[in-house]
Amino acid sequence: MQKLVWRVKIVTDLGDGAPEIDVEVARLERDELAVPETLGLSLAEGKRLVAAIQTEMVRAQAATMGERFRCCAHCGSDLPSKGYRSVTFRSLFGDVPLRVRRFANCQCRVSAGEPRSFSALTLEGGLAPELAYVTAKFAALAPFAKVVDLLAELLPVGGAVNGCTVRNRTRRVGERIARLRPEGEADPDIDAVTPAVVIGLDGGYLRSRHRRPERNFEVIAGKVLNLDGSQHRFAFARNGNSASEFANAVVSAGVRLGTPATVLCDGDSGLWKLQRQVMPEATLVLDWFHIAMRFEHALQAARGLGAETSSDYLQGHPIHELERAKWRLWHGRSSAHVLGAWRG
Ligand SMILES: [Zn+2]
Repeated sequence: MQKLVWRVKIVTDLGDGAPEIDVEVARLERDELAVPETLGLSLAEGKRLVAAIQTEMVRAQAATMGERFRCCAHCGSDLPSKGYRSVTFRSLFGDVPLRVRRFANCQCRVSAGEPRSFSALTLEGGLAPELAYVTAKFAALAPFAKVVDLLAELLPVGGAVNGCTVRNRTRRVGERIARLRPEGEADPDIDAVTPAVVIGLDGGYLRSRHRRPERNFEVIAGKVLNLDGSQHRFAFARNGNSASEFANAVVSAGVRLGTPATVLCDGDSGLWKLQRQVMPEATLVLDWFHIAMRFEHALQAARGLGAETSSDYLQGHPIHELERAKWRLWHGRSSAHVLGAWRG
């Protein structure tokens, strides 16, 4: 049977009249009889291919940077080499071990207060920003170990990637995001007059990584909606410092002392207290979803009451009254009767 062969080559052109370098990065073979499984690239071949291209590109770029910094950019004198630093560049397309050149800084720079030596290529933690981004994005949606499986299945990510690595990378991304202030935003002017906002606030329990002091902890998450449709999200763990965390979050979203605000929440007394502490002037609205949920709980209890009795009155009346109360509340027809039912 005849074999089909593809040789994949990278031709590197570093410009400045330097000779082109070509390297064979993959050799793909198939029988002439193709079936769906052998048609085109396999996942493993695809991973090997992008990993090979990544290695060639990253090494060439690191070497170019090593040449680029041989002379002082200010006075043109040659810089003494301080050898190489071994680093591993980790990316979505594989880990690339590298030797990054180090130089002693020029005398003219050291006297200007710059460090005595520098690296030709600065790699923050050796991690490609896109790898940090993809890891953190999926870690927000799935357990850390599942993220490891997903990345390893689809991408040539190498090294000892495990749940801990995913957690640490995600935390670093989170720490960076939490520090960032939207571009162009001035320091908060606490007395500024700003347009009205709507703030949604809710809490939920998460399982803690540490078994002590508690297995679970509460997280408060919220959203500030501005009239122009822009949104600002925030979240923090509920602890003794919640009021100042909440205050910081709304201030960084542009909310000031005099900003007219409407706060939507689920009726949790802790959230009400938080809102009263930080934004005592805000209009508080219990959102319909949570109201309807409470009616549903009451209706379930009423149905249970009816099922255990032969009384027509108990079977029908409580349910009818609750449905009427819910209808009146939704249509804004408040009365003492409705409020009585709500308190009950
Ligand atoms: Zn110099």
